[in-house]
Amino acid sequence: MEDVKIGLEVHIQLTSLKTKLFCSCPNDYRDKDPNTNVCPVCLGLPGALPQLNEEAVRAALSLCIALNGTPTRKMVFARKHYFYPDLPKGFQISQFTALGSSPVCQGGRVKLQMKNYVKEIRIRRLQLEEDPGRLVWPQGFNSKYVLVDYNRSGVPLIELVTEPDMSSPEEARAFVDKLRSILEHLGICNCDLEGSLRVDVNISIKGGERVEIKNIGSIRDVEKALRYEIVRQKTIVSQGGKVIRETRHWDPNKRVTVSARTKEVEAEYRYMPEPNLAPYIITEQLVEEAKKTLPELPDERAKRLVKQYGLSEYLANVLVSSKRLADMFEEASKSYNNYVRLANILVVDYLRWVHEFNKKIGECVEPKWFVDILKMVDQGIISLKIARDVVIPEMVKRCKEPSIIIKEKGLRVIAEEGKLRELIRKVIESNPKAVQDALKNPKAINYLVGQVMKATRGQAEPKLVRKILEEELSKLRG
Ligand SMILES: [Zn+2]
Repeated sequence: MEDVKIGLEVHIQLTSLKTKLFCSCPNDYRDKDPNTNVCPVCLGLPGALPQLNEEAVRAALSLCIALNGTPTRKMVFARKHYFYPDLPKGFQISQFTALGSSPVCQGGRVKLQMKNYVKEIRIRRLQLEEDPGRLVWPQGFNSKYVLVDYNRSGVPLIELVTEPDMSSPEEARAFVDKLRSILEHLGICNCDLEGSLRVDVNISIKGGERVEIKNIGSIRDVEKALRYEIVRQKTIVSQGGKVIRETRHWDPNKRVTVSARTKEVEAEYRYMPEPNLAPYIITEQLVEEAKKTLPELPDERAKRLVKQYGLSEYLANVLVSSKRLADMFEEASKSYNNYVRLANILVVDYLRWVHEFNKKIGECVEPKWFVDILKMVDQGIISLKIARDVVIPEMVKRCKEPSIIIKEKGLRVIAEEGKLRELIRKVIESNPKAVQDALKNPKAINYLVGQVMKATRGQAEPKLVRKILEEELSKLRG
């Protein structure tokens, strides 16, 4: 899909900060009564003066360095004007790359480990800005009136803008996942919080104009919205039409994008330097500090996992794509030393069911549970097949400990040889043709093994089944 160009604008709330970007109101606005988490500054009352929260600069610098970007020396804020009820001042204090304003960070890159290739996505810039308030539609989008809640107004945001380097919905999704993991490793954003990571995408196909899709509520919807948009744009072009430059919204219920307005040009925002905030000088010392306190990041961690646990690069990269998943692996590895098997269960099976049941990674499961499952497999108490097909999905779906699921469902393998032998004799009796085949051709025994597994609903150890089958067949031969 090299003829598709995708760029992202990601809004990242700095949830680790105690206070808002330009005032001392608490940063944690969630679950508070409407318009109680406000002051004259974040309400934009006349005469109120903003004061920069320097913790936000530190957080932005750490992200800048983590992405290999270049921190600016002299950071200048700008007013971005637009009229909307969520913005009481009539402008948002943001940053810009012209008119004397300079964003906190320029350049940078993120390495994406795709299944069969590696790709680097360039970052254009990071800018610090304040979050606007939020509109509340009491009866959904058909409401007769709209309420506005300013509790979120002034919450520190980093806007990250990429170059249009992604060429498929999968790459866009991988980018957001990787960014999220970097933010989690840096500890500056708890991206599980609703609205803490918001993505706008722009996408163009060969011969068409750039279309922006806003209001994509969840990371999973980024991929869906892009898939829809590629089909829509390609259909227009194939029918001889022209894709126009516009902004569209993603409707998660109907799973379509809808036209919102033709794209305004940036000049309409009437950017100007913010006169109430002096330019902020980012000193060498501040940058050095950010470098020194940088924690282990996903790429380094993946390399360490390969070295320390003997994992393949692929497994290590998938593990670190979520800090929580990598943490679960390292926690479980303290009490289980077949590391490759452990990593496989997490990467292949656990992730599959997490996506299937729309859960969050680490939600209501314990790293110890995976150790319990694998130890039971090793001891022959349950089969690996049952662990993968029944125990793990049930555990993810119902948040239940594996030992309880195994007991409830009677999943223990049939370990008693006598009971199994009886069953195998029955299978031999009722499959005379297959038995004749197996007597002639040793490979044909697989069919009988399958029949026995079916008869036991997977609750037998395949190796043991094969051993008894061979014994019984040799009796027939003899
Ligand atoms: Zn305030």
